Amino acid sequence: ISRYNSTAAAAAEEPIIPPVSVKHNQLLINGQFVDAASGRTFPTMDPRTGKVIAHVAEGDAEDIDIAVSAARKAFDEGPWPRMTAYERSKILLRFADLLEKHNDEIAALETWDNGKPYEQAAKIEVPMTARLFRYYAGWADKIHGLTLPADGPYHVQTLHEPIGVAGQIIPWNFPLLMYAWKVGPALACGNTVVIKTAEQTPLSAIYATKLFHEAGLPDGVLNVVSGFGPTAGAALASHMNVDKLAFTGSTVTGKIVLELAAKSNLKPVTLELGGKSPFIVCEDADVDQAVELSHFALFFNQGQCCCAGSRTFVHERVYDEFVEKAKARAIKRVVGDPFKGVLSKALSTSGATTCCGGAENDSLQQVDSEQFEKILRYIRSGVESGANLETGGNRFGANGYYIQPTVFSNVKDDMLIATDEIFGPVQSILKFKDLDEVIRRANNSNYGLAAGVFTQNIDTANTLTRALKAGSIWVNCFDVFDAAIPFGGYKMSGHGREKGIYSLSNYLQVKAVVTPLKNPAWL
Ligand code: NAD
Repeated sequence: ISRYNSTAAAAAEEPIIPPVSVKHNQLLINGQFVDAASGRTFPTMDPRTGKVIAHVAEGDAEDIDIAVSAARKAFDEGPWPRMTAYERSKILLRFADLLEKHNDEIAALETWDNGKPYEQAAKIEVPMTARLFRYYAGWADKIHGLTLPADGPYHVQTLHEPIGVAGQIIPWNFPLLMYAWKVGPALACGNTVVIKTAEQTPLSAIYATKLFHEAGLPDGVLNVVSGFGPTAGAALASHMNVDKLAFTGSTVTGKIVLELAAKSNLKPVTLELGGKSPFIVCEDADVDQAVELSHFALFFNQGQCCCAGSRTFVHERVYDEFVEKAKARAIKRVVGDPFKGVLSKALSTSGATTCCGGAENDSLQQVDSEQFEKILRYIRSGVESGANLETGGNRFGANGYYIQPTVFSNVKDDMLIATDEIFGPVQSILKFKDLDEVIRRANNSNYGLAAGVFTQNIDTANTLTRALKAGSIWVNCFDVFDAAIPFGGYKMSGHGREKGIYSLSNYLQVKAVVTPLKNPAWL
């Protein structure tokens, strides 16, 4: 492990051999591992070396069709929606146990495929996934309709029924967690699922779904298709036999899938999209704590978080001190092979088991060359548009896709680094004078996913939490996730909410049933 600016570049070190091998690389349809109908495969890469980890079956429209047929049959004829909710919940609980049993192996696959710190995958993401499935197992037998009053001699009730076959499309930044957010509530409600994983990170979902079948999941209930967006993803979004679509990814792709859903069978769509979240440091803030938290808010998961606090607004009274300290904090960051790492005690305690914590060795390994080049282009644009590059700005080492932790000060609202989702380790620090001004500027974005507020003044906190247009607002903390806390965006950050009780309604139909109290009521 090297400090990013030390001469001992990570590239000089031999990549650590991952403590895992790839056992499954096929599609998982109707409970069986199968090759793609076309016979094609695609390589999934180790971002540390650019070398192939495995060749994975490349599903396309034909495989999606086969998977949707399996899910349809499992929904229309199979045991899953018909078994008691308690039986369903027991399968979800057994799956959570198996995830924990195989924690280290899944975490290693996730790290190998994505480049995220192993400690983060092993101590945060796999346990949070198990936690989420237990949470939804708890909901399975608590989903029920209502008895309602009527203006007449009628018994009126609502039935909350599963919606049918859910199509789900997920990104690469948290492959297993995104799988959990989608699959957990869908299955707890009694739906069946076809999930299309991200082409950069197909491995953990296949492995997890194998465990799900070991836990007793009936065939056809959960089908995993690896493949590319414009082929497999588009086929799922436009499939006439898919009853609901849940998508997480970029805003650009979100618009495409919404249109595909509308043009096919008008299936309802939930969208979890991009963000450019403000992190507001008020004049009364403890600067050292604010620096630490804003650093975490941006650099966690290599900066590849949809909710990253990527516009750091700092009050003018503490601005200069903040910039100096934010720069020093970034320089201190440990960059290196994601398989070496230690959890930061300071950050992982802030939300007990529920916080996304923070790995001290945030490898800063980007997922692939496309993301890596995109981030470097944004850094160049920041320099060209006149922001001050305080530290970083380049690749780290000669191999892989590591990027130095980068901090810009003197950032103006109209610079691309302040308007666009960079999705990388680039912190942009902006100066503000008063609350009205920062509210206006923070809300002046097409996105509205999250916001951070750092203040010791309860009135300031209340003013900001009410005024900011974002789906998640963290006050004096950041990235505190829990299975019960809803997540989703305002504006072009998405439609609907995932996690918590809110996600259940994404996967339920409401049926009103009216029965005369005495037959025939109309006589
Ligand atoms: P992306 O939109 O490129 O891809 C996401 C998924 O969509 C992938 O599975 C991809 O194969 C698929 N896809 C691509 N083109 C498609 C098409 N034409 N039809 C159907 N599917 C298609 O996004 P990405 O680069 O993988 O992920 C990063 C983005 O995801 C960022 O914008 C980030 O903010 C967002 N994200 C949002 C959340 C959230 O909860 N709001 C969480 C994680 C990531």
